[in-house]
Amino acid sequence: MSDTVLVTGGTGFIAQHCILQLLDAGYNVRASARSASREAELIATLTPHLASGTTLEGRFSVVAADLTSDAGWDEAVAKCTYVLHVASPIFLKVPKDENEMIVPARDGTLRVLRASSRAGVRRVVMTSSVAAVAYGTPRDHVYTESDWTNVEGDDVDPYAKSKAVAEKAAWDFIDSTQNASSMELVTILPGLVLGPVLSSHFSSSGESVKRMMNHEVPGMPDIWFPPVDVRDVAWSHVTAMTHPSAAGQRFICAASDSVPLLAIAMILDERYKSQGYKIPLRKLPKSAVRLVALFDRDLKFIIPEIGKPFHVDSRKIKTQLGLEPRDLAEMTFTMAQTMIQYGIVKSPK
Ligand code: NAP
Repeated sequence: MSDTVLVTGGTGFIAQHCILQLLDAGYNVRASARSASREAELIATLTPHLASGTTLEGRFSVVAADLTSDAGWDEAVAKCTYVLHVASPIFLKVPKDENEMIVPARDGTLRVLRASSRAGVRRVVMTSSVAAVAYGTPRDHVYTESDWTNVEGDDVDPYAKSKAVAEKAAWDFIDSTQNASSMELVTILPGLVLGPVLSSHFSSSGESVKRMMNHEVPGMPDIWFPPVDVRDVAWSHVTAMTHPSAAGQRFICAASDSVPLLAIAMILDERYKSQGYKIPLRKLPKSAVRLVALFDRDLKFIIPEIGKPFHVDSRKIKTQLGLEPRDLAEMTFTMAQTMIQYGIVKSPK
C-alpha cells in the first residue's frame, strides 16, 4: 500500500505543487486547510495539472485544521508516514502586532510536530525561508545554512521573525524528550518563489510580478532576493522526505545568489513589451520609497533592505539532494504567463 503524506496549508501556492508531485509519485495525500469546505475547490484546481494517468480518486482528501488550535491535528496526521509542513501565516499587509504572525507560526508548527510524533510519523519536512537566515545581522558574508536571523536585530520584519522563531522551535522540539518517537526533521529554506500559478490564487511572492505586469508601480526599489521556481521547491520537499542523508539538515533552496527585482522586470520587458505590456524599469530612489512609507507603513520594512543585497550559498541542496534548478527567465515567464491565463494580469490597453 502507498504511504500517506499530510501536506499542511494545502490551499497554498507551494503546497499545491507539493501535492501534485506527491500524487504523481504514487503517494496518497491528505491536505489540511482551515476549512474542509475547500476540498471541492482544491480538487478543481489540482485536477487539470495532474500528469496523465494520475488520478485523485481515493488518493486525496482534505481535513480541517488551523495552526491556532489543537483541533484536527491528530486526525490530520493519523496513519501518515510523512508530513510536509508548509502552512504559515502570511499577510499581504504587515499586522500591527507582530505576534499575529509569530505566535501562529511557532505554536502551529509545534502542534503539527507534537501530533506527528505521537502518531509515529517517520519524517517531517518543514518549509522555512531564507528569511530565517539572512536578517538582523551585518551583511558582511555569504549566508549559509549555519546562519540564523537575529530576531532581536534592528528592522527585522514580523515575517522574518515568524520564520526564524518557528524553525528554531521545530529543531528544539525534535531534539527534546517530547519527541519520544525520534521522528526526523528536514527544513527547506526557499528564497523568492516564482514559477507557474495553478489558479487565480497566488502567494505574496507573486505580487512583484503581478505589479510589474499590471504597471501598478512606478519603478522598482533596489531590493534583492535569491529566486527559485515553485516546482523546484516542491521537488526539494518531496526529495527531502525520503533522501537518506537529508534528516537533521537545513537546505537553502535557490536557483542562484540574490538578484535585484529589476532583473525580473527586465526579463518581463524583453518578453512582453512587444505585446503592449509596460513594465516599470526605473530604479526607485530610496528617498522616494521613504516618502511613500510615511503613508504606507508596509513599506517601512523594505527601506532598510534597499541597496543592501544579501548573498546566499545554495550549493548544499544541489550537491546533497541533487536539485537542478530552473533559471530565472523560466520561472519569471511561467509565472507571468499563468497570471495572464488566470486573469491575475490584465490585458494591456
Ligand atoms: P500561500 O499561498 O499564502 O500559502 C500559505 C498557506 O498557509 C495557505 O494554505 C494558508 O491557508 C495557510 N495558513 C496561513 N495561516 C494559517 C493558519 N492559521 N492555519 C492553517 N493554515 C494557515 O503562501 P506560499 O508562498 O505557498 O507559502 C507557503 C510556505 O512557504 C510558508 O511557510 C512560507 O513562509 C514559505 N515560503 C514562501 C516563500 C515564497 O516566496 N512564496 C519563500 C520562502 C518561504 P489559507 O488558504 O486558509 O489562507
